[in-house]
Amino acid sequence: MNLNLSDHVILVTGGSKGIGEAITRTIAAEGAVPVIATRSKTATEQLLKEIRDSGQKAYAYLGDLEEVSFCKTVIENTVKELGRIDGIVNNAGVNDGVGLENDPTAFRKSLSRNLYHYFDLVHYALPYLKESKGAIVNISSKVAVTGQGQTSGYAAAKGAQLALTREWAVSLLPFSIRVNAILPAEVMTPLYRKWLDSTFDNPEAKEEEIKSRIPLEKRMTTAQEIAAATAFLLSDQSSHTTGQYWYIDGGYVHLDRSLK
Ligand code: NAP
Repeated sequence: MNLNLSDHVILVTGGSKGIGEAITRTIAAEGAVPVIATRSKTATEQLLKEIRDSGQKAYAYLGDLEEVSFCKTVIENTVKELGRIDGIVNNAGVNDGVGLENDPTAFRKSLSRNLYHYFDLVHYALPYLKESKGAIVNISSKVAVTGQGQTSGYAAAKGAQLALTREWAVSLLPFSIRVNAILPAEVMTPLYRKWLDSTFDNPEAKEEEIKSRIPLEKRMTTAQEIAAATAFLLSDQSSHTTGQYWYIDGGYVHLDRSLK
């Protein structure tokens, strides 16, 4: 299947590590021009070099997505440099464990880490997405629908991303801009590794326990599997798909709990 993504300019937040990195690599391999917006300098420089060495184009802007001014600059500079925006993958975020016992300031900070920049980038990119009839993919989480415990901020942000997916899908119908969400469950990434290693006395045993609860093949979803679904949703091969929540999770959320 040809995804017809050649020369499509696609912004990927957090696009040089974990799920974002896999998305950047995948769309670059499909001929798209990824534009990474992140704060991870070393990983970004390395990835840009690799993609450019392989003959593909890639760009990056370094900064903190919590800053509205950075989101605005990313969009303005992308358009100045490349003349168009065909897609946005809202991906950067962190499960920061801000629970009910934390104070309201921490809750607000968690929303800032995980939610506001999803809106800010789309807000500033809107005129260009209208021109290109672009596509938006919001990377949410199963936590939005299952909860996890002790993570009110992240759960609220991930749930709001799903609500915005439906809201924007409706708002943007007149412009043929499609908006979809992907809900990963368990994907081994630098963030996930850090969480396992810093939270549990025996991270290996915990990892095995988590895998044992994933119905399909008792393994984690790979970042590449999330990236493949994202590339499809960005492409015109999904041209009549909008407002959808796509669970790429090995059956984690929906399959029978009694499965052994
Ligand atoms: P990751 O490995 O930490 O990669 C995220 C990248 O985004 C990192 O480079 C991070 O920089 C960057 N970033 C985060 N906040 C930023 C900010 N405010 N400004 C600029 N850059 C920022 O994370 P991941 O596991 O791939 O997760 C990606 C997305 O998938 C997140 O939205 C997460 O909630 C979602 N998700 C992941 C899983 C999973 O199992 N991994 C499951 C469900 C949902 P630093 O390295 O400096 O932090």
